[in-house]
Parts: sequence; structure tokens; C-alpha cells
Amino acid sequence: MPLRGALLGFDAAKRHTSMPTPDPRDRAPLTRVLKFGGAALADGAGVRRACSILLERGGPQAVAVVSAAHGVTQLLDQVAKAAVAGRSEAERVRIRHRTLLAQCGLEQELLDRYLGELATVLEDVRRSQRITPAQHDFVLSFGERMSARVVAATLRRLGREATPVDSFDLGLLSDSNHGSARPLPGTQASIRKSLASVAGIPVVTGFLAQDPAGNLTTLGRNGSDLTASLLGEALGAAEVQFWKTVGGVMTADPALVPGARRLERLSYDEAAEYAFRGASVLHPDALQPLARAGIPARVLSVVEPDDEGTRIGGPSGGSERGPVGIAWRRNVVRLRLELAAHEERWVRAAAVLAEIARAGLEPLACTVDAAGIAWVLGWSDALAQVARAAPLRVERGLALIAVVGPPRAPLATHRSGPIAGGVGTVGAGIGGVATLCEQMAGEVASSLFLVGEDEFAASARALHAAVFESSELLTQGF
Ligand code: ASP
Ligand code: MG
Repeated sequence: MPLRGALLGFDAAKRHTSMPTPDPRDRAPLTRVLKFGGAALADGAGVRRACSILLERGGPQAVAVVSAAHGVTQLLDQVAKAAVAGRSEAERVRIRHRTLLAQCGLEQELLDRYLGELATVLEDVRRSQRITPAQHDFVLSFGERMSARVVAATLRRLGREATPVDSFDLGLLSDSNHGSARPLPGTQASIRKSLASVAGIPVVTGFLAQDPAGNLTTLGRNGSDLTASLLGEALGAAEVQFWKTVGGVMTADPALVPGARRLERLSYDEAAEYAFRGASVLHPDALQPLARAGIPARVLSVVEPDDEGTRIGGPSGGSERGPVGIAWRRNVVRLRLELAAHEERWVRAAAVLAEIARAGLEPLACTVDAAGIAWVLGWSDALAQVARAAPLRVERGLALIAVVGPPRAPLATHRSGPIAGGVGTVGAGIGGVATLCEQMAGEVASSLFLVGEDEFAASARALHAAVFESSELLTQGF
């Protein structure tokens, strides 16, 4: 179909070789999925702004995915906890949404059905003084369900037909792991078919799914990004747009690193690795459906809607494979299993890893030397038990900083003696911070730095300065 090919620019798609080129016939060239995060829907002005973006930039086949209004998921979690403790606080949710309705100029009764249902389940919880994971997910679901009603009603007030849609009614299925459910494969046809029969712009709840037995589930904090990607994949959308209050993906968190700047583009691999290392890009799992289907994405700002934002993946490929950014995970620990090389070290290591996995934890890095094996992972109380049983040496109060993507200049400088800001291996370093190890994730290399919490901010700034703010390697501080 030549028209479709022309719209999608398939010549560019063919030139890009690092990922499979999607079959053009599977694409719906006019369909765009626009996802709005909670901060972008915080109040009446935010909801109206999101709606005009949808109308102006959604094209003829826009699909909206919405988060709960800012802070509402947390509020619902608080009122659920209050109910377990015997207190009725449903009124707080009612007031929050009545205010939102008034700001949007919508009827005060629009959400009464949902607020009533919520009050009923909270009352059940209060009486029994316990909450099941399924009930907790049910309580959280009201945030997205009400937000979808508010956005759809506002679009209708603006003269455009729109229908609120609960994602679990579309056939979006997940496993039964309440609180962080994983989507199940094979739901695309059902999602496509259900959406095709929706009148006007579908305004779909993010974050929510349903297990095969029909229980409502949630996809984990910030899970609405994943919903948008899954819908984009199911529809073969031309693009998925993630609208936030910050304009795109930055080279570091600007709150900590003043020199951080916006990234123009990222490959799927780079975005996934950057998110995994702790950057707030998108929900880390949201990249997979996009990469599978080869759907380009953009991270855009509702505050500056004309700004380019950050492009992720797509027919014209990823970045030029230079450095991507500095990300970090704080409050991490290093666990060391001290074993000489001749002992059955990997048999012991496998047993330790099995314990770590059983506790639901995931190592972020692993290093090996003659004296033993060490893992770096986020602190959790469950770790203390694993460490005692093994036994393992535990170092706490650390942060794991990653420089994602290969630095353009040769940055590794070998020095002996102590290196400022690092508790990693003495040797190669960047900007005066000692490298722990280099890791490869798919195509993307990351250099990891393990530093003490007290040195964390200075180390992150030094690394950013060395990689992004200077053409020269900064070796001061050695
Ligand atoms: N409302 C959920 C949260 O706050 C999901 C989302 O916003 O993506 O985590
Ligand atoms: Mg959010």
C-alpha cells in the first residue's frame, strides 16, 4: 500500500539495521497513542491542557492513556492503610475529586458511582481490619478509573466525542501478581477489536489489568507507561507519545546536576539500560513492547508542547552510540562471598543467588576476583537474613552510579593509590571516581561506580562534568 509506505518513511526504516523492520502492513499510520502522566493531570488547568494537546496533536485516530491525577495513587494507598487501622478516610478522596471536577467545570455527580463503590470497599476493609492484595489493587484502581472519566468528559465539553475505557475491559490480561502484575502475551487481537468499537477518542485507564480469573490487577508504580506501550503495540500505532511535565529525557537529574541537558534521541536499548540504572525515562518495562513492534516513541512536555522532546527508537534509529547519561541507584549494598578460587565457589555462589532471588531481589552488578565474588543490590530487610545465612560480608550506605553509553573520549586513566570518591577497584576511573566495572546490556555499555552515600552527589557531578561538560578528561581529584 504505497500511501502507508509514504507516510511512514520506509526508506529510512530499511536503512536502519540494528532492529527488525516492522512489516508496514501491520501499521496503522494514523493511530497515535498519547499517554498523560499524573503530574500532567494534576488540576483543572492540567486536564484542559492535556485535552487540547490531544485534540491538536492526536491526529484523526488518537488513543489516550491516562494516569490517576497527581498524588491520588498515594492518597488511595493511605486511605487503604487507614481503613486497616480502623479509620474511615474515604472523604479525602471525595474532596480531592470534587475539587478537580469543579476546576474542570464538570458536574459534581460525575464520579459519584466510583466514590460510592470506593467507600463501600474501604468500609469492608475497615470492618475486617485487613486488606488482601486483590482488594488493595481494587482500591488503587479508582485513581485511573476516575481520571479517565474526567478527561473524557472534558473532551466532550470541548466538542469532541470521547469515551472512557477501563483497560481490563479491553482484554488486557496480566498474571495474578497483585501490585506488580506482568502482562500476558496474546491479548493484542482482543485489544484491537475492542478499541475499534469505541465511539470517539478512547480515554483508557493506565496501570490496570485483569488476571485470567477476572481479578483486577495493577502493573506497578508508573505502570501507565507500560499500558500505553502495550496499546501501541496492539494497534501497530505510528507513534506513542509520553506527555509529562518535564521536557524529555535528560543526561542526569537536573535537580542534582545543574549542567544536565535534554537528549535528542535514544535507541530502545539505551533507554532501557538508562531506566534500569535508575534514570526516570519511562517505566523500564515500557520499552519492550515498543522495541518488539518497532514503534517510535517520544517523551514530550505539556509545559512546552512545541519542544522536540526526546525521541526513542523508531525507523531512523537510535543515537550515535555516544554517552547517554548518568543515572544512579541509592541505598545499595555490596555483599561479598569470600572464597578462594579453588573452592567450589560457583556452586556456593549459585546457592546465594537462589536465596537472593527467593527474597524477590535482583543484583545490579557482580564482580569476581581471586578472593571472592561480590554483588551490588538495593538494600532491603530481606537481605539481612540472606547475608546471615550464607554468611556474606555486607557493606551498606553505598550508591551505584552508572555512566550509560560509551564515553566519546578515551576516559580510562590508570593510577595507583586511593582514588577520591570510589570504593570500587582502584584502577580505571572517570573524573576522579573509581570504576567498579564495565557492563554490557545488549548493545549498550555502562561503566559502574560504587561510592559512599556521603560522596554520592559530588561523584555524580564529577562524572557528568567529565563525560558531558568537557572535551578533556578531568583527572583532578586523583
Ligand atoms: N497512578 C500510578 C502511579 O502513580 C500509575 C502511573 O501513574 O503510571 O504509580
Ligand atoms: Mg506517573
